[in-house]
Amino acid sequence: AFDTIAMAPTDPLFGLMAAYRADTFDKKVDLGIGAYRDDNAKPWVLPVVKKAEEIIRNDPAKNHEYLPIAGLASLTSAAAKLVFGNDSPAINEKRVVSYQTISGTGAVHLGALFLSKFYPRPANQSVYLSKPTWANHHQIFQNVGLPIAEYPYFAKDTCGLDWEGLTASLQTAEPGSIILLHACAHNPTGVDPTQDQWKAIAEIMKARNLFPFFDTAYQGFASGDLAKDAWAIQYFIEQGFELCVAQSFAKNFGLYGQRAGCFHFVAAPGSHAEDLAKRVGSQLAILTRSEISNPPIYGAKIASTVLNDEQLFEEWKQDLCTMSGRIIAMREALRDKLVELGTPGNWDHITSQIGMFSFTGLSEPQVLKIREEFHIYMTKNGRISMAGLNTHNVEYVATAIDKVVRE
Ligand code: PMP
Repeated sequence: AFDTIAMAPTDPLFGLMAAYRADTFDKKVDLGIGAYRDDNAKPWVLPVVKKAEEIIRNDPAKNHEYLPIAGLASLTSAAAKLVFGNDSPAINEKRVVSYQTISGTGAVHLGALFLSKFYPRPANQSVYLSKPTWANHHQIFQNVGLPIAEYPYFAKDTCGLDWEGLTASLQTAEPGSIILLHACAHNPTGVDPTQDQWKAIAEIMKARNLFPFFDTAYQGFASGDLAKDAWAIQYFIEQGFELCVAQSFAKNFGLYGQRAGCFHFVAAPGSHAEDLAKRVGSQLAILTRSEISNPPIYGAKIASTVLNDEQLFEEWKQDLCTMSGRIIAMREALRDKLVELGTPGNWDHITSQIGMFSFTGLSEPQVLKIREEFHIYMTKNGRISMAGLNTHNVEYVATAIDKVVRE
C-alpha cells in the first residue's frame, strides 16, 4: 500500500547535530542546537534542579502513578502564576485554564489542535507566523490543517525588527486571524519588539480583532528577569484580550528531554469568562486524553518543586542569571573580537539581539564554508546558538567569521 511513499527530508537541525557528532576535528564548534552549554561546552544541570531531584528522590510517597489528564496541578497553577503574574486578575477571576503538555512543542500543538477544532473561522483567515520563525511552527499548524500566512519580522539591512512590514501585515490581516507571537527571545532572530512596539501591536490587534497565540519558550532566559520576559503577555491580558499561551520549561529549567510544559487558555473578562474557561478545559481534556492520555511526571515534579518553594525559587533565579549572564558575556566577546579584527560590516546586532540565538547575517554559502573549513556548525540561515560559544572557542569562531566574510 505504501509503494509510492516519498522519502521525507531529515530534520535540518537534528541532521546538523548528527553531522557535528560525526566530525572528528578537535576544534569543532556546535552553534546549532538551542540547548545551554557551560563554559566547557558541556550540558549544565541547574544546581536548583539537582536539589529538587534530591527532594523528589527522598519523598517516601514517591511513586510512578499516572498524572491526571490535565497534568500535575501544583505545576500548572504555579506555571500560570509564573507567566501571568502572582496577582493576575485573570487567574483570580478563574478565567485561565491550564493543561500540562509535552514541553513547548506539545503546548503549541495542543493549542493548534484546539483552535483547528473550535475557533470559528470565516474563509481567508490564517494563522500568521513571523517570517522567519521556529521551523516547527509551520509543521505543527500544517499538521492540524490550519492555513498559514506569514508576517514580515526581520529586516536584513539592520538585522533588527522590520517594524513597517510587521505593522502593515497586521493591519491588512483578515479580522479574526490568529497571530503567533514569540513572547521574548524570538527564535531564530533574537530580535524582540520594545515595550512601546508591543503596545502598538496590541492596539492594532485589538482594532482588527486578531487573536494572539503567545509562544514562550525562554522566560527568564532572555533578560534573566522572569517578569520582564513575560511583560508582553501580561500587557495583552491587561488589555482584555482572549488568548492562548504555549509555555516550555525546556530552556529555563534545562529540562529539555523531560518534556515539561503547559498550555494556557485565557478567556476575556466578563460574566461568562469562568464558565467559558471550564468548557474549554473540558474540550482540552478530550484532546489530551486521545493523544497522550496524560503527561509525563518527572520533569513536572522538578519544575513544580522549584516553583512552589520560595527558597528554591530564589535559587532558580540565580541559575537563570548564570545562564543569561554567560550568554550576554559571549555576545560581547564575539562582537568585540569582530570589531578588533576589523571584520567588514556592523556587528552591533550581536549584542542588541537577546536570548539564546543570534542571526549573524552570514549567507548560506558562508555558513557552508565555515562548516567545511573551520568545522563550525550553524543552521543554514546564519543563526548561531550563543550557548555554544565559550571563552575557549570565541576567538576561533570570530576569526573564522572574519575569514569567510572577507573571502
Ligand atoms: N517554541 C520555540 C520558539 C522554541 O524555540 C522552542 C524550542 N526550540 C519551543 C517552542 C519548544 O521546545 P520544547 O518542545 O523543547 O519545549
